[in-house]
Amino acid sequence: MKQPRPFPHLTSPLDVGPLTLRNRLVMGSMHSGLEDHAKDIPKLAAYLGRRAEGGTGLLVTGGYAPNIEGWLLPAGSTMATARTADNHRAVTDAVHEHGSHIVLQLLHSGRYGYHPLVRSADSSKSPISPFKARRMAGWDIKRTIGAYVRAAKLAKRAGYDGIEIMGSEGYLLNQFLAERTNHRSDNWGGSAEKRMTLPVEVVRRIREAVGPDFLLQYRISLIDLVEGGQTWSETTDLAHRLVDAGVDIFNTGIGWHEARVPTIVTSVPRAAFADLSKRLKQEVDIPVCASNRINDPNTAEDLLANGSADLVSMARPLLADPDFLNKSAAGRSDEINTCIGCNQACLDHTFKNKRATCLVNPKAAYETELLPTPRWITGSRSIAVVGAGVAGLSYAETAAERGHNVEIFESKDAIGGQFLLAAKVPGKEDYAETLRYFQRRMEVLGVKVHLGVDADVGKLLESFDHVEVASGVTPRIPEIEGINHPKVVLYDELLSGARTAGERVAVMGAGGIGVDVSEFLTREPNMSIEEWKKVWGIGDPAEHRGGLTDPVDEDSGREVHLLQRKDTPIGKGLGKTTGWVHRAELKKAGVIKHIGVTYRKIDDAGLHITEDGVEKILDVDTIVVCTGQESNLTSLGDVPRDHPRISVVGGADVAAELDAKRAIRQSVEDALVV
Ligand code: NAP
Ligand code: SF4
Repeated sequence: MKQPRPFPHLTSPLDVGPLTLRNRLVMGSMHSGLEDHAKDIPKLAAYLGRRAEGGTGLLVTGGYAPNIEGWLLPAGSTMATARTADNHRAVTDAVHEHGSHIVLQLLHSGRYGYHPLVRSADSSKSPISPFKARRMAGWDIKRTIGAYVRAAKLAKRAGYDGIEIMGSEGYLLNQFLAERTNHRSDNWGGSAEKRMTLPVEVVRRIREAVGPDFLLQYRISLIDLVEGGQTWSETTDLAHRLVDAGVDIFNTGIGWHEARVPTIVTSVPRAAFADLSKRLKQEVDIPVCASNRINDPNTAEDLLANGSADLVSMARPLLADPDFLNKSAAGRSDEINTCIGCNQACLDHTFKNKRATCLVNPKAAYETELLPTPRWITGSRSIAVVGAGVAGLSYAETAAERGHNVEIFESKDAIGGQFLLAAKVPGKEDYAETLRYFQRRMEVLGVKVHLGVDADVGKLLESFDHVEVASGVTPRIPEIEGINHPKVVLYDELLSGARTAGERVAVMGAGGIGVDVSEFLTREPNMSIEEWKKVWGIGDPAEHRGGLTDPVDEDSGREVHLLQRKDTPIGKGLGKTTGWVHRAELKKAGVIKHIGVTYRKIDDAGLHITEDGVEKILDVDTIVVCTGQESNLTSLGDVPRDHPRISVVGGADVAAELDAKRAIRQSVEDALVV
């Protein structure tokens, strides 16, 4: 009997405006950092071309400003000259070569620009830029519309199939739309209708200039998540006006960048905002694309099948795996390398003005650079990998892909190392996807995985050409009187379930793991979308302007103290785009923070500390040790680290400041040249 086609909705074509897209997967706009300089165009073409090769139906570029006042950063990506447009031919050709379509995103930053030329509806300053905006005069607004039109015509000249107008996330057009940032009383403000004049005029004038055979996609904000944001009736009224002005398709945006509600990090439940795209779809007769935290084909298929959207947009999941669509279509979705929403190598890089890539796929945006040494140089080798954490697994995958004969030796009875523990933290459930991916990859590549084996590098050298030591870390145990007291639990014992915590807990060490452990102790796993929205105060924008209501605090019934010796704010070292979410979670859960403490001893009374010069006893049942890690090199025995046939990677190499991003990248780089 003929098997049903996998993911029939996701993989079916769709007519959108003048185009027929080959499937329903859209690569959403994400600034990679390769957009800003002409010299990077070949890398940008390879990066986007690779996503087209992997089957993505429609790609949206990173944001391009229509003029210099719309820059995100000084000398940022702009589409304003014929020369720039002609350079972009390499990008559009690379995508078209694989049968996909591509649109250029036009993004005017408004008051989100990080430079002194910023301008907006009002002369205000956003909380995320140090620069105060200049209020745009009427002539300036008209000049800006002209710049949009010029950029759209240039995009057509460059071979793009259309443009996406960025109207969400709190950028210029969204700033004109919301009463929060538009207090004008002229033709461009004063009423909801007049606040819509700028986006509608931009669309109308562009359509007039480019004609009917060019896709006009508009990214509309479905919920602003800021005080003074739009109401649902304003959003739908805008949508109708935009369709009348010439929009072919709506992509959707959730929340302004300055919103204090998370919209894309790991802890946001999958498809948390799809109810709003469904409501928009019921309002308009053009296709609607859902976005935000859609990172697997099952969720995507469900949304398409249940009428929540006509297309689904993903950006980070396509950094994690460029072959997302082709693997889904071929019934190999268990081989997808899933984006875990960590932001560590993508958005956190963007905020530091570094090139975006991906923690679980370091080759993303490095397609022309992270290349293997040819096999005729290295020959075929037998390789033993010690440790099945993400460092060892990444190494084994890349080495096996190159045709080497690879075996892994792991002392525990499961693969995963630190990721196995991270997946136990509420809000980080997606980390288990990375292990599912590696498990399957090892099967597909024929890598033998030996579990429950204490490897001896000396012995392995007798039967393998090369040994890669990726044996990870062990918890650092601080030298404090009473550290062996029965109240003391190591973080890995707690997260693995080997030991449990009481009702009153002290967490020693407030790095990434101390924060994770505090959340593990206070939050429920797998929160439903409804519960999660209540905790963050997300309401119906039809009832609450901007979609904000009063958040509800979480009461875990547990008293948790989180301590560190430094006197810097807790969570300072966490990622720019995720740290504030963790700090807010701790506050909601009532975790009591102690900074600048000295640990004195542990005994039956609890944890003795000195805080602000005062000696105190924290009367707790459990003390969880999260005070960093040390490299685990026990498998080396007498073999020297600089032995010519071994290499050491990941936490086994350097435990200080260890993170998975560095471990995976180092392992892939090593395996490309072995
Ligand atoms: P970490 O970030 O280095 O934090 C360990 C903390 O323990 C230090 O901040 C330090 O703070 C304290 N400490 C160190 N030595 C100590 C000692 N001898 N006695 C008492 N306290 C001591 O390491 P981690 O939390 O174990 O995390 C490991 C890696 O995983 C890090 O790179 C981290 O960024 C990453 N990670 C990130 C996340 C995330 O982004 N959400 C989550 C988990 C892990 P004081 O000395 O000030 O007390
Ligand atoms: Fe996803 Fe993290 Fe990769 Fe960004 S770095 S694409 S969030 S897995």
